[in-house]
Amino acid sequence: MASKYDQIKFFKETKARDYHICDNCGEWINAGDIYFPESIGKVNAPGVKLRKFCKECYENTLKIKD
Ligand SMILES: [Zn+2]
Repeated sequence: MASKYDQIKFFKETKARDYHICDNCGEWINAGDIYFPESIGKVNAPGVKLRKFCKECYENTLKIKD
């Protein structure tokens, strides 16, 4: 489902400070690893679904896009 926030979403390269699970492949992202959480910057948008991608999925997503 497309939301009005889709256009302003971007992935922000981040060093994990805690464990996460990739929303694409379900693999663990370990603390200290680089991962790519989706962000909408400073926009206040309660309820908007933001995904977290591991580095591999992020790079694959960019390749698939367009
Ligand atoms: Zn992944």
